[in-house]
Amino acid sequence: MTANSPHNPTTAVGSADSSEFESALETARRQLTHAASQLDIDSNIVERLKYPAKIHEVTVPIERDDGAVDVFIGYRAQHDSVRGPYKGGLRYHPDVTHDECVGLAMWMTWKCAVMDLPFGGAKGGVVVNPKKLSAGEKERLTRRFTEEIRSVIGPNRDVPAPDMGTDAQTMAWIMDAYSMQEDETTPGVVTGKPPAVGGSEGREEAPGRSVAIVTRLVCEYYDRQLEKTTVAIQGYGSVGANAARLLDEWGATVVAISDVNGAMYDPAGIDTAAVPSHDEEPEAVTKYANNVIPNDELLTLDVDVLIPAALGNVITKENAEAIAADFVVEGANGPTTSTADSILAERDITVIPDILANAGGVTVSYFEWLQDINRRAWSLERVNDELEVEMQAAWDAVRSEFERRDITWRDAAYIVALSRIAEAHEARGLWP
Ligand code: NAD
Repeated sequence: MTANSPHNPTTAVGSADSSEFESALETARRQLTHAASQLDIDSNIVERLKYPAKIHEVTVPIERDDGAVDVFIGYRAQHDSVRGPYKGGLRYHPDVTHDECVGLAMWMTWKCAVMDLPFGGAKGGVVVNPKKLSAGEKERLTRRFTEEIRSVIGPNRDVPAPDMGTDAQTMAWIMDAYSMQEDETTPGVVTGKPPAVGGSEGREEAPGRSVAIVTRLVCEYYDRQLEKTTVAIQGYGSVGANAARLLDEWGATVVAISDVNGAMYDPAGIDTAAVPSHDEEPEAVTKYANNVIPNDELLTLDVDVLIPAALGNVITKENAEAIAADFVVEGANGPTTSTADSILAERDITVIPDILANAGGVTVSYFEWLQDINRRAWSLERVNDELEVEMQAAWDAVRSEFERRDITWRDAAYIVALSRIAEAHEARGLWP
């Protein structure tokens, strides 16, 4: 095995030395050059991909409830659209920056390509603490932000989705603001909407479902029976709880789950349906637990599969030597630092990267976009069946590179993504 590409998108967390962490943009560029170094592709294409196509910076004035006007900064970074319209989340967070949007947009380019979706990567957001906005202020901010970026988004241009601090309601406001100004109802301008206005069944569960599917596939590949597999999952939110419940349903033994306050641990197996997810009752895991252990201890439990599904940078050089699982399936974005990634590779611990494992979210977003364009809703069963097909296809493509080149699964995923993007650039050429 070779050392993995680096992988840490978010601000440093935990107790590890901050020099271990890098920005989303540094990470995305390193991933690009690392994958490119293992491929025979035109260096001019790699040079082009180091930069976003466009970055839109806007100011968003809103009237607060007390009548004062506040102005917020908003961004939409559009990285590469060679394979289709830009696609990526919009976050409302005080730490949103220009460079973070660019890095995360690049990341979305790789994620869409590894899933072979006809989209390129984008990311955006507003520098604001959404917890300090009333519902009315959040709606006015969203509508005005939509107007400021209206000319650069659209079903065939750039399709935003929810991210940190935004949700289905936010997407419904964007869809409404865009539709009112364009004078036609345009559900395909955003994904992650409520089903009543063109949202897809199964969208919310999709990232967790893809994590569970990939866990099942990795067990099959390494001749492990799911019925004899133990799993520990950090985080019991949209990703963690959905993955936990599916794996439990499919026969695996989920021995640990956690929330921000600690982890529930039961070596005999947890009844995952009986514990409320973050969405159903925030931070309830520890409340329902008989046996609570710290989150750090969950990460080093001697289980078959470890699924970090809470936040970034939790597997670091401080704890990588202590990870006892055979497989790490990345549910969160960027849970493993690049230093930790190299340590895990040296220790022969298999890491399935986030751009494959949690890509069910953007894949069902693609299904939502298809449904909106065709004005035809799919059943939940169809969504889940098609997600299974897409995950299997992506897995097969990544597995093939993994076997052919004797590299890590992360490198294999980036190579699949970059090969597809480079091929499209070569076919289209550089204009003029
Ligand atoms: P969520 O808010 O639904 O749940 C987060 C869970 O993590 C909660 O159970 C919370 O208690 C727990 N948590 C928070 N801080 C923690 C800490 N310090 N230690 C341990 N647990 C902690 O979030 P989510 O949507 O499930 O997202 C989780 C991760 O997955 C994030 O990295 C996110 O970027 C990524 N992700 C989410 C989606 C999506 O569509 N929801 C898609 C792809 C990737």
